[in-house]
Amino acid sequence: MDHLAAACGATNLPLERSLRQTSNRPAPQPKRRRTPNERLLQTMDAKFLIPEKRPKSSMDGDGERVRVTVRLRPPTKAEQRDDEGPFIFLDTDRNTVVLRRTLENAVVYMNISAGMCMGFSVEVAFAIPFYLNQPLSMHVQSGRGSFEAFTEFQFDGVLPSGCQQVDVYNTAARPVVLDVLQGYNGTIMAYGQTGAGKTYTLSDKLACGGMSVEGIIPRSAAEIFARAEQDNDNEYHVSMSYIQIYMEQIQDLLRPESCNMQIREGETGVYVSGIQEVEVKSAEDVMKLLLLGDRNRAFSFTKLNAHSSRSHAIVILTVERKAKNFSEPASEASDRPHSGSSAGFLEGERVLVGKLFLVDLAGSERLKKSGSEGIRASEAMSVNLSLTCLGKCIGARADPNATHVPFRDSKLTRLLQESLGGNAKTSLIINIAPCNDYLRESLSSLSFGSRAMKVATRAIVNVEEEFRVLTKNLQDTLEMQDERLQSLEASILSKEEQLVQARRSLEERTKQVEMLRKEQNSFNEKFMEQLRLKDDHWSHRLEIVRNAAVDSQRKRIRYLQEELEKLKEVDGQQGTTIAVLSNDLAKVLCNPDLHSDYAARVIQRSYRRRYLLKLQRVTT
Ligand code: ADP
Ligand code: MG
Repeated sequence: MDHLAAACGATNLPLERSLRQTSNRPAPQPKRRRTPNERLLQTMDAKFLIPEKRPKSSMDGDGERVRVTVRLRPPTKAEQRDDEGPFIFLDTDRNTVVLRRTLENAVVYMNISAGMCMGFSVEVAFAIPFYLNQPLSMHVQSGRGSFEAFTEFQFDGVLPSGCQQVDVYNTAARPVVLDVLQGYNGTIMAYGQTGAGKTYTLSDKLACGGMSVEGIIPRSAAEIFARAEQDNDNEYHVSMSYIQIYMEQIQDLLRPESCNMQIREGETGVYVSGIQEVEVKSAEDVMKLLLLGDRNRAFSFTKLNAHSSRSHAIVILTVERKAKNFSEPASEASDRPHSGSSAGFLEGERVLVGKLFLVDLAGSERLKKSGSEGIRASEAMSVNLSLTCLGKCIGARADPNATHVPFRDSKLTRLLQESLGGNAKTSLIINIAPCNDYLRESLSSLSFGSRAMKVATRAIVNVEEEFRVLTKNLQDTLEMQDERLQSLEASILSKEEQLVQARRSLEERTKQVEMLRKEQNSFNEKFMEQLRLKDDHWSHRLEIVRNAAVDSQRKRIRYLQEELEKLKEVDGQQGTTIAVLSNDLAKVLCNPDLHSDYAARVIQRSYRRRYLLKLQRVTT
């Protein structure tokens, strides 16, 4: 039966086949001594290998849940020397893993099957709480001495140590990547103890002996870009972020100066504030960034792994898909679930946004085994604490009666909140090592995976409005507003200057007006004074003139009266003269000798002259 151990452990042939071989095999040769494992396997009935409490599968059609795949690492040279025989059995047909444990010097009175416990030894006590809650069967021999216990787990997939990276990708990652291309969030997470092969599974990128050993991250990137290239109807935009959680601090591995970044919660879930998102155009771009980030990641030598990751690393690939010529019937759009805001998005351009989280967890380690001291020990303790918190969150999510999930107890669980039973399709890879020393850790990892299978998820297609268009519009608007603001500021400045100048000139004018007013007042006063003086002067002069005028008038009147008197007197004399002259004229006229024109004219002329002279004298 030596070949049974080889078949089950080293080459990982299905256990069932091994059992069948065992049962069909003729009776063992008497010279060959059977191992306790073989003896026990022979005594087991078929029912033993069928789990009593099988977790619901998404294949059952009853909602979706976290999918779990187990990967067994090939043994190292040192592990190959382990002559205790195989203790991990993988059945790839039934997707089961069986652990064989030896209970040394145990006093065991127990038969656990379907959760029944009659008694237990000190050594198995630690495992009982797990066993009773897990989808497993356990069988031990009752009695005293060394005993072997077999524990069975069933998962969505089990990958033996001989499997290729491409098999791991196809089983555990590809369905999630395809969902991400459809607009779902996806998480692929590797869990297991230090040195179990998590980093190898996720991000190995070296070509080994001509064989491609690329891990899940390079393969996912290649698949995304290959699909995007083939798709003629849609255009894709992919960006990448790479962060690590080291000693409970988030650091951007693509911009290492950004450390202790904060987790915030927005409409679309939790996110790391200020995270660097680099646009990637090909799988090669992803690899370059992965190498760049890895250079900044915390690794160190431990006894368990020469290149041990001391931090949880998370690669985030954001895939945005947009129809080249978008025209979707409204009814179809409204029928489909989405996480974008319903208001207004039907009118705008829309994109399907799928986020792929590729999580390489740091491994748990026992300080005694790893020999870590100082800062290495602190790192390990921080990692162990966050993994414990992860376990608690998974436990709470798996328990339908749990009322509180302690996501906020660690940065890791807070960031992976949506991946642990929220809006994400989650695939968990449990990495285990084929080594007796790590059996306890493997048991713990398998128990974790088994519980994770009970966590239901509720992924939805994320539909967002074309944020680049919105951003561009917003930027244009902002630029316009900026320009307007600048011109307004300039005009305000010039107005202010004008105002200052106007104020200054107003002050000057006011001063001038004040001065003028004063001048005017003094002038007025002077003028009034002058006026008063002039008034007095002129009234005096007027009085004098008036008096003089009155005097002269009086004199004139008197003179005129006198002249009148004289005139009257002359007039009386004139009358006498005229009478005399009339007589003279009558005499002349009666005298024919004097009767000539000449004589008459001479007389008239002389009289008239005399008369006028007299008149002139009278009037002047
Ligand atoms: P972890 O990240 O879990 O601490 P690693 O991925 O660093 O462990 O693996 C530890 C060692 O084991 C590495 O040298 C790695 O190359 C090797 N290794 C892990 N898994 C495999 C595998 N499936 N095939 C070959 N080598 C492996
Ligand atoms: Mg690692």
